[in-house]
Amino acid sequence: MSYKSDIEIAQEAKIEHIKDVATKIGLCEDDIEYYGKYKAKIDYNLLKRFEDKKDAKLILTTAINPTPAGEGKTTTTVGLGDALRRLGKNAMIALREPSLGPVFGIKGGAAGGGYAQVVPMEDINLHFTGDFHAIGAANNLLAAMIDNHIYQGNELNIDPRRITWKRCVDMNDRQLRFVVDGLGGKANGTPREDGYDITVASEIMAVFCLANDMEDLKNRLARIIIGYTYDGKPVTAGQLKAQGAMAALLKDAFKPNLVQTLEGTPAFVHGGPFANIAHGCNSIIATKMALKLADYVVTEAGFGADLGAEKFLDIKCRMADIRPDAVVIVATIRALKYNGGVKKEDLNQENLDALKKGLPNLLKHVENITEKYGIPAVVAINQFPTDTERELALVQEECNRLGVNAVLSEVWAKGGEGGLELAKEVVRIIEEGKNNFKPIYDLDMGIADKITTIAKEIYGADGVEFAPAALKEINTLEELGFKNVPVCIAKTQYSLTDDPKLLGRPTGFKINVRNVKISAGAGFVVALTGAIMTMPGLPKRPAAEKIDVDVNGKIAGLF
Ligand code: ADP
Ligand code: MG
Repeated sequence: MSYKSDIEIAQEAKIEHIKDVATKIGLCEDDIEYYGKYKAKIDYNLLKRFEDKKDAKLILTTAINPTPAGEGKTTTTVGLGDALRRLGKNAMIALREPSLGPVFGIKGGAAGGGYAQVVPMEDINLHFTGDFHAIGAANNLLAAMIDNHIYQGNELNIDPRRITWKRCVDMNDRQLRFVVDGLGGKANGTPREDGYDITVASEIMAVFCLANDMEDLKNRLARIIIGYTYDGKPVTAGQLKAQGAMAALLKDAFKPNLVQTLEGTPAFVHGGPFANIAHGCNSIIATKMALKLADYVVTEAGFGADLGAEKFLDIKCRMADIRPDAVVIVATIRALKYNGGVKKEDLNQENLDALKKGLPNLLKHVENITEKYGIPAVVAINQFPTDTERELALVQEECNRLGVNAVLSEVWAKGGEGGLELAKEVVRIIEEGKNNFKPIYDLDMGIADKITTIAKEIYGADGVEFAPAALKEINTLEELGFKNVPVCIAKTQYSLTDDPKLLGRPTGFKINVRNVKISAGAGFVVALTGAIMTMPGLPKRPAAEKIDVDVNGKIAGLF
């Protein structure tokens, strides 16, 4: 059997004028800033109008530990939104914006898949409304101001060897990871070692997505630490007086982008921080606006529930003062078999033993959401064409035996129609109202205690080994007044441990924290386990080789 590609499906769709999509969530002509016929920005000032309105129900989509292929969280999020609308609910979706890095690299686009996509998918995947370029520009303005400050006499006594702020670009470009710049003699700056991050890994992206309003955005930008003085004191963007101009560059980007699903369900697609070095979900401003405009909002957190959902619940929910009403945990037969030890190339074959071995991974994530965080959950089995009936039956049976409701989701093949059962279960658990959400750690615990709590409770580790450098930096940060901020753990997404090769539900392991670093603007401490990539490279055969545009401007080869 052959299947249509995501882009073929998206290009065949009947797509509504964005004005008509906006009408569905009660917006009028005046609220909409058009970016062509199918995209619009919605002014954040609108939030003031809805101050007294009750928030919608919030549904978080997360997943088991992913395999390299991606497991269908975005697809499920989109399909669930469509299905809720089919049930007559005023539902909308809030997603991250795709980064050009993965689009041209291995993973491809991030606008959903099959019959559960947001459109226009070509635009969403390629530049969209230019937000990421604006974020890059704000980031690079700060970089330029730092080096200019040093060139102009270095009043702040910045140590060029200890500048932590990097330049950025939204591209997978390993060549830029480490550079020496400022060459060419006295008139051309101060030579120093420098480097680039991909825009989505920049602190500006995290700040942008965690800011509650323009004032909060500016305050966060001002708090960003760009490096240290010769006597070891932190220097901030505020000291360089950069926050006003940076915020000015972000003024339009900060407005959530409205698009639609293939079925015309309204969707905000806004902001897109990495889920390792940052917290991995769309902007607070988009989530909050969606909560005012709809009755049900479906949103996604990146990677598996150990990373994305943990950060959503412990960082974003706290900073935005929101709470989810239900969590959907996406699992695929393929990913469970992979967790049970099957190689990527053999995933299409039925293998009930491997499936059984992989299931405890799913169960740990379910336990985390329902027992550790106290939120009602449902497992969505995202059906792939290669799944066999015996495999599906086994997952359902094993989940049921362990007291978890597992629902088959066919949204990739059938759109919202294929998600009705999932939508009904989501509504049911929300209406049942057994929600006792609380974060996994208290903010006033020490930094090391917070990291240890996440490792033990969420990953199932025996404890944490802190490298001497990490302990020293924790000490310094606590003395600098950063004791009471949340922690953002940068860890492999493939395992509950910090070793990508340990799949399933490992026990008897420790998490190794190599170092910690402060993201003072974002407002969290990043705990680094293993080597963390903040500037990916392109693979041997980049997806870019297949992407094309014809004489009429029609894009091909995106997936
Ligand atoms: P995630 O958000 O978890 O990274 P996505 O929803 O972006 O995953 O899906 C990743 C890729 O897998 C997409 O190209 C999508 O088309 C494909 N995909 C998702 N679900 C299915 C499915 N049920 N059957 C076949 N392909 C799927
Ligand atoms: Mg996704």
